[in-house]
Amino acid sequence: MDIKLDPSRDDLPLMANTSHILVKHYVLDLDVDFESQIIDGTLVLFLESGNRSRKKSGSTEEACRSESNEACRFRKLEPCHVPVADTRTSWSQMGYSDFAICGKGERDTSGKDGNHDNQEQTYGISSSKHCCDTGNHGSEDFLLVLDCCDLSVLRVEEVDVAAVPGIEKFTRSPKLTVVSELRNQIVRELVTLPADRWREQLDYYAWCSLAPGCGELLFDTDTWSLQIRKTGAQTATAFPHAIRIRYRTKPQGRSVTWTSDQSGRPCVYTMGSPINNRALFPCQEPPVAMSTWQATVRAAASFVVLMSGENSAKPTQLREGCSSWHYYVTMPMPASTFTIAVGPWTEVKPETCSPSDLAAERSLSPSEADFRCAGVCGHMEYPCRFQDPSATTQEIIPHRVFAPERLAGACQETLLQLLSPCLSAAHAVLGTHPFSRLDVLIVPANFPSLGMA
Ligand SMILES: [Zn+2]
Repeated sequence: MDIKLDPSRDDLPLMANTSHILVKHYVLDLDVDFESQIIDGTLVLFLESGNRSRKKSGSTEEACRSESNEACRFRKLEPCHVPVADTRTSWSQMGYSDFAICGKGERDTSGKDGNHDNQEQTYGISSSKHCCDTGNHGSEDFLLVLDCCDLSVLRVEEVDVAAVPGIEKFTRSPKLTVVSELRNQIVRELVTLPADRWREQLDYYAWCSLAPGCGELLFDTDTWSLQIRKTGAQTATAFPHAIRIRYRTKPQGRSVTWTSDQSGRPCVYTMGSPINNRALFPCQEPPVAMSTWQATVRAAASFVVLMSGENSAKPTQLREGCSSWHYYVTMPMPASTFTIAVGPWTEVKPETCSPSDLAAERSLSPSEADFRCAGVCGHMEYPCRFQDPSATTQEIIPHRVFAPERLAGACQETLLQLLSPCLSAAHAVLGTHPFSRLDVLIVPANFPSLGMA
């Protein structure tokens, strides 16, 4: 399973089995530690089973029928699918159909010959009892496969969303007595809330992410994926729809760069390539996987945490010397568009705050306008700015500028004045700004061009 891959030459393997189940929302709760160069915390995934994201049907058979033949074939080959490390095959030519399916015997062999020990050594899996050596190799359990690499996964558990106060109003069938079905029903209702209830949806995602665990899930990792299963859950529909992953990044992980800014102070940023965010959090990479997210990130109070969220987050002081930043997005996007940059930067502000800036700040969030994009946009439902009259006429979106201390003066003198005319010109040429705001960061000189799309 150790696939040697040269990201500069080969396509990345897409391991996530998105034809069975889709991540609809990520809740990240992370701590950034510059001394150890590790980001650690939890990731809560909210999942929707079935191929079509807005499909209400719980029938996996029906979902399967609507899929391509290839996806169906992949489904039928469950539960164990293991990529073959065939170095003779170009990765760019490999798709799902190239996955080899191993039988029970082969899997047992991989367990017995020290597969797990190798992984513990190589990938830092710390908890052997969670891995696939639990003796149920012949089970028909559904396997959730997420794309990731260079992460230390410490624990995976089901989240008891039914324990969240007030959550029961989402369940349309209160007669559900099987609690696991009730939990999945709650998540199903939550992920399909109409776009004009986005704020409520975000809040419930956050509360659910804090709900207690209700059972550890079995997991295993290899070079490019994290595989999760629940004993007895044989279909994507029966698999828990809210799961929490406790993990930490590795200093050598290739999703973030730990470096110094132009003032010589430590900072870290996502570089986007060559492996997207796979070494930052487990995710679904295939293009069909579009999700929203929210993230709470804590760092030393001297640091600024910037993310590709729709809100201009401000720090909340947690305790002496530690601040927390919270960002969110309401537009479903690929997990690879998640960006984060943390550094001891200075916000460069205009000498005087103009009234128009304040007005812009007030209209920052998606308003409660009618977000039904019927016949106009053609995308899945979300609080789309193209449907919001106040957004379509907003020539200049709220923006902030952050720079290393040493360059703050230069930014003040030159860059700041240019931003408003540039944003206005962009609006004149391209129309509505698709995002509600902009953070401009003067990145370190080693930032790779086009690092983040
Ligand atoms: Zn739209």
